[in-house]
Amino acid sequence: MLKIKKLHVNIDGKKILKGIDLDVNPGEIHAIMGPNGSGKSTLSSVIAGREEFEINKGDIIFEGESILELSPEERAQFGIFLSFQYPVEIPGVTVTNFVKTAINETRKARGEEDMPASEMLKLMREKSELLKIDRAFLSRSLNQGFSGGEKKRNEIFQMAMLKPKLSILDETDSGLDIDALKIVAEGVNKTRSKNNATILITHYQRLLDYIVPDFVHVLYNGKIVKSGDKELAKELEKRGYDWVIETVS
Ligand code: ADP
Ligand code: MG
Ligand code: MG
Repeated sequence: MLKIKKLHVNIDGKKILKGIDLDVNPGEIHAIMGPNGSGKSTLSSVIAGREEFEINKGDIIFEGESILELSPEERAQFGIFLSFQYPVEIPGVTVTNFVKTAINETRKARGEEDMPASEMLKLMREKSELLKIDRAFLSRSLNQGFSGGEKKRNEIFQMAMLKPKLSILDETDSGLDIDALKIVAEGVNKTRSKNNATILITHYQRLLDYIVPDFVHVLYNGKIVKSGDKELAKELEKRGYDWVIETVS
């Protein structure tokens, strides 16, 4: 589904990613871990197509085609979802209306009609039940006064409604409490299928107690320095990152 080939990325002339290779197949969950400043958020932003980065070398292939020339909106239409894409507060726009607009914008870009209201309602009902989201939450203004957990709930609801092929969840927030982590985990687990894939960026091994990744990668200083399975995350929790870093520096 996603193939990252020898990706080198700069910001303001500074080398941030220094040759990333990553293959993600349908049905897989990949966790990307690593110390602060390693380039994890840069990697997720580059996949989603944020434009402040210079791609010097390498390629990002999604479903067989290079996406480097596509805008973030076009990548979203192809089924790439990045969490925290819309962290803005929008007074007067409800959680429901925001997600409806996002769905219909995507359809419009594909030359399709708006989703019929009855179908939208059914989808909304199905996903809010799945994720145990109540009606009061759906009619709140987007992100206004949301707690950390509510922001996560909103994000996960958007993800469930949009049904992306590839979700990239960048769990940057060190203030996330255990309830918020559980909301994310439940959302990922319940929307998981053999057709979609998730890249989960986290420095918390704890999140991986709730989401079992197929692969764990350690990103350090712009490179993936170690890959393994879920046992690697457990080892990192016990031993920290230093033992991995020592082997490369
Ligand atoms: P992580 O998510 O692993 O903590 P980041 O991708 O946020 O790492 O950052 C990687 C490196 O890139 C850091 O050294 C950071 O200072 C630098 N960086 C990130 N964004 C920018 C930016 N917009 N301008 C300049 N440097 C940046
Ligand atoms: Mg950081
Ligand atoms: Mg980060």
